[in-house]
Amino acid sequence: MCAKTKGEELKEQLLMAPKSLEETMTPEEKKAAEAFSGPYKDFLNRAKTEREAVSVMVSMLERAGYVPFEAGKRYPAGAKVYLNNRNKALIASTIGSLDIGEGVRIAAAHIDNPRLDLKPNPLVEDQELAYFKTHYYGGLKKYQWTAIPLSLHGVVVRKDGSTVTVTIGEDPGDPVFCVTDLLPHLGKDQMKLPMTEGIKGEQLNLLIGCEMYRDEKVSEKVKLNIMNLLFEKYGIVERDFQSAELCAVPAFQARDLGLDRGMIGAYGHDDRVCAYAQLMAELEAKDPAHTTVTVFADKEEVGSDGTTGLRSHFLVDFIEDLAQAGGRELRHVLAKSVCLSADVNAAFDPSFPDVCEKRNTAYLGYGPVLTKYTGGGGKSSTNDAPAEVVAFVESLLEKGGVTWQTGELGKIDQGGGGTVAKYVSYFNVDTIDMGVAVLSMHAPFEVISKADLYMTYRAMVAFFTQAG
Ligand code: MN
Ligand code: MN
Repeated sequence: MCAKTKGEELKEQLLMAPKSLEETMTPEEKKAAEAFSGPYKDFLNRAKTEREAVSVMVSMLERAGYVPFEAGKRYPAGAKVYLNNRNKALIASTIGSLDIGEGVRIAAAHIDNPRLDLKPNPLVEDQELAYFKTHYYGGLKKYQWTAIPLSLHGVVVRKDGSTVTVTIGEDPGDPVFCVTDLLPHLGKDQMKLPMTEGIKGEQLNLLIGCEMYRDEKVSEKVKLNIMNLLFEKYGIVERDFQSAELCAVPAFQARDLGLDRGMIGAYGHDDRVCAYAQLMAELEAKDPAHTTVTVFADKEEVGSDGTTGLRSHFLVDFIEDLAQAGGRELRHVLAKSVCLSADVNAAFDPSFPDVCEKRNTAYLGYGPVLTKYTGGGGKSSTNDAPAEVVAFVESLLEKGGVTWQTGELGKIDQGGGGTVAKYVSYFNVDTIDMGVAVLSMHAPFEVISKADLYMTYRAMVAFFTQAG
């Protein structure tokens, strides 16, 4: 082997040489990544809404010995607790050995996804076809939601206060639903419209039936027949839709993607991939130095407003309870805490190279993306993590043997996006974004790499277990 030249040595010493995890992971790590991906796919299939995610996660936490958190109680180091916020958001926590005054380690992912919510008066009949009118939730490209099988999920609270859980379209024997689109033969005018207008919000109508209730005396026989089916199965009447949260989501299952099975295609990677990674790290946390606070938030896709979003106080109220039990002031605990805002980032897509700046974009297969700031041009509306915080989190990842990358969300003037980091940092918590790079983000079928999923989980483990 020839000796390295001076230039080669200098290059090694001074310059970064990012490598794909496909080149750097050991065979054992590759095997571990594959093993990690199976239960993740299962999780995605069982948790397509924030309510389902909370329900699935609570049973996993309880199986692992977590108990419902009681305010005012002082827990010993190693104790595991959870707080269920209205069945739509969740906090899991492992009590650390350090004084609570040393701060907590917060990991914050969200469990809501873009989807089609039913309107409060959804049921209509038009030309002897029955539909549910929808109002889309989150930032989606409307045309992507037509002509694909959709399932119906949610809850209905009946007049007597009892709650019915609805899931139709997930079992292979279930019927599914869809939003119809115009045939190309007659789509001449539609195809000339900008893509934002090709399908309009009021055209996202869910086709749910065509059979009639046989009675000469009644009108809207298809609508009546549908309502009758729903009444027989769920005991609900039309007015119950007003107090319902029902939505249509893609009916398909998470699948391995690619001949080499290196990727996963599924609905809802944003942000269940980070939620699952932090959940697994939380479950495994044993006697951490700092108390872990693993939060699964709702409403991120619509601005984090409301009681279950991270602009609500539920997260700091929980930390305040921990602080009080330890005889400390909330503000002092927050000031010493660190938060990983765990949300996905855009992966560079070779089919759409123009929206990214190649040196500062995230790539599939290069590990979790550490993002100093999100927002848009001029760094508007973001948490711009201080250099010290970036360096600190990088040191934790380094100690944990984690490979990571950095990336901005697209070119400066291209658009942008944000997540919960700014709402956590508002409370004087050092916060930085970190998450998995996704292709086709917000589409009904999003793509991630298995290597990135596994390395993000390892990053969460490092964040919880490496003292600093
Ligand atoms: Mn997200
Ligand atoms: Mn999103």
